[in-house]
Amino acid sequence: MGAGREEQFMIIDLHTHSLVSDGTDRPAEVMRRAARLGVDVIALTDHDTFSGHAEAEAAAHEMGIEFVPGMEMSTTLGGRSVHLLAYGADTSHAPLLEELERIRRGRTERVPRMVARLEELGVPITVEDVIARAGGDSVGRPHVADALVAAGHVADRAEAFNRYLHDGGLAHVGKYESPLPEAIDLLHDAGAVTVIAHPWGRGSRDVLDGDTIGRLARDHRLDGIEIDHGDHGPRDSAMRGELRSIARTHGLLVTGSSDYHGTGKVGHEIASETTAPGVWERIRARMT
Ligand code: AMP
Ligand code: FE
Ligand code: FE
Ligand code: ZN
Repeated sequence: MGAGREEQFMIIDLHTHSLVSDGTDRPAEVMRRAARLGVDVIALTDHDTFSGHAEAEAAAHEMGIEFVPGMEMSTTLGGRSVHLLAYGADTSHAPLLEELERIRRGRTERVPRMVARLEELGVPITVEDVIARAGGDSVGRPHVADALVAAGHVADRAEAFNRYLHDGGLAHVGKYESPLPEAIDLLHDAGAVTVIAHPWGRGSRDVLDGDTIGRLARDHRLDGIEIDHGDHGPRDSAMRGELRSIARTHGLLVTGSSDYHGTGKVGHEIASETTAPGVWERIRARMT
């Protein structure tokens, strides 16, 4: 394919969050930080919203780096949460916008239930505290965690998740999520490229075995899986090796990315994990 020297050394990070969902930096700050760290191509993939794109794109343009309009959609399979990354979706596609709104409404509506449980557990916060911590239209458990920190009940987000908010935790309340196969179809209809985020991070391994991933590739033309992610152990982990062999078997693109959340998640600095230039070329070619 004759990739030039410059292209071979491109730094590409396809998964980051800003405060329009549960990151802690403004969208423009994420872009400026990426540029400072030498990144060439950076996607903003806030949970269930596109609302950070305009600010991020302008900042990326100013810094001379390539902005990829992304999103991480909340989906479900077999009763577990699965995060689905989308690149290049038409952000005016009405059915997609409606579905994202439904997910975000579910995010907001569960907050009073989590707050009530926390009250019973002796760590009171208010719904207003939580909403105030969310910098945009996508409220999540990390904002509940931030309210617990602000009230002095826990030291940081990690402790809040460990004690109360983890999947199945005492104060965890589920939310509406799109069925995964339908979400892939909907995103394709909106012209997006679909990549399952951290498929074997945090328990989703149970519902995403090789056969299931293969079926999604065959029947729904899933485009890829994010393998190089901090939740999959070290670079040379057996888990990453197994996932690579699944991707090879089913012809899936393999991405890597930081899942940067600002100070909200330690060990996920921008560009701590990256995507190969050849893979990015293929994703870009499929974005319509
Ligand atoms: P939500 O989508 O609102 O239910 O919250 C899920 C988000 O919380 C994920 O996107 C992560 O950013 C964060 N998260 C999930 N589990 C943990 C954990 N154990 N520790 C810290 N953050 C977590
Ligand atoms: Fe998150
Ligand atoms: Fe995720
Ligand atoms: Zn993420």
